[in-house]
Amino acid sequence: MADSSKRCQNCGDSMQNFRKLQADEFDYVLSRVGRAEAGNYRRCDNGHCLRVQHYFKYGKGFDLPLSFR
Ligand SMILES: [Zn+2]
Repeated sequence: MADSSKRCQNCGDSMQNFRKLQADEFDYVLSRVGRAEAGNYRRCDNGHCLRVQHYFKYGKGFDLPLSFR
């Protein structure tokens, strides 16, 4: 199912599954984007990819620190 909101820039701009954040991931995202936005973020589920991004705006995102690998 193609959905452009699932495009991962770290995975060669391919479509990836994005899953909900785990508690430690959520805490980090919260510290970066604030409480109003953190709930909209998902993490790329492609192996060790560290990208988290906004569920509806794929261009809005960043990498988790390497400790989350
Ligand atoms: Zn990815």
